[in-house]
Amino acid sequence: MLGRGCKNFSAMRIVKSIAAMQKLAQRWQVKNTCIGFVPTMGYLHAGHLSLVKRARQLVGRRGKVIVSIYVNPTQFGPKEDLGRYPRDLTRDKQLCRTEGVDVVFVPDDKLMYPQGDHKVFSTCVIEEALSRGMEGASRPTHFRGVTTVVAKLLNIVQPEIAVFGAKDFQQATVIQRMVRDLNFRVKIIVAPTYRESDGLAMSSRNNFLSADERRQATILWRAIRQARQTVRTGTVSSERLKAELRHTIASQPAARLDYVEFFDPDTLVPVKKVTRGSHIALAVFFGKTRLIDNGRL
Ligand code: AMP
Repeated sequence: MLGRGCKNFSAMRIVKSIAAMQKLAQRWQVKNTCIGFVPTMGYLHAGHLSLVKRARQLVGRRGKVIVSIYVNPTQFGPKEDLGRYPRDLTRDKQLCRTEGVDVVFVPDDKLMYPQGDHKVFSTCVIEEALSRGMEGASRPTHFRGVTTVVAKLLNIVQPEIAVFGAKDFQQATVIQRMVRDLNFRVKIIVAPTYRESDGLAMSSRNNFLSADERRQATILWRAIRQARQTVRTGTVSSERLKAELRHTIASQPAARLDYVEFFDPDTLVPVKKVTRGSHIALAVFFGKTRLIDNGRL
């Protein structure tokens, strides 16, 4: 049964149980089949699919590409959008099938966090340096949720390669650190941010924007480009550039800046002088919808 499915692109499997996923991964490991993994929260878009394509490229035709779809509750704060996070598993499965994915792993909360009970589940992974600022400062329990669930998923899927998006630059950096610090046997690949034609980074959350907010949301990309343009002419103080970008963001009536930061892309330490090679990240609210973006300057 397993052997037949492995050779056939169209026979995509939907795996719901952790035990079945681990068993399948172990079978493939025994056969020296390379596993490439793309963890997602679903409601897939072309950005996610670009990671799937990258995973396929890396594992080759004989390798296996596994996509997980799991809206992880522990990475949402109590006042965040867990309840309204968009979901469409039927469409996601269709997109994965078209993309030649081998397995869609769809665990549920009861499996991932048995009974939501701390007596049954009381372990978490905390990265203590890179996850402090920016997203970590705005969303204090976010990265603990991310590192814990990614650690669990890596243990379940046991991939050689896992692909993450540069769209969530801090997340990718934190995961790279976790993998290095805890000796996970996986190579983390960070794939570029996939954008709409007007520059807006693709995100499942873009769906929440009204037509007017959607038009204004390009301000994140325009701010990144403005910063790029500015450093092209020389070094500039972080405070001055932040003030300029605050002004730019404020030009959009629906936009409310959460943070903008300039930092060293390796250490995520904020810089006082912004130069070419510095990194910018920002988070902007449009109503209840919070969008993030980033880029190398
Ligand atoms: P999410 O479903 O939002 O948790 O994202 C799952 C993975 O897809 C993460 O590694 C994200 O960084 C990545 N991703 C999300 N949006 C994009 C995008 N526009 N371009 C590239 N990767 C993305």
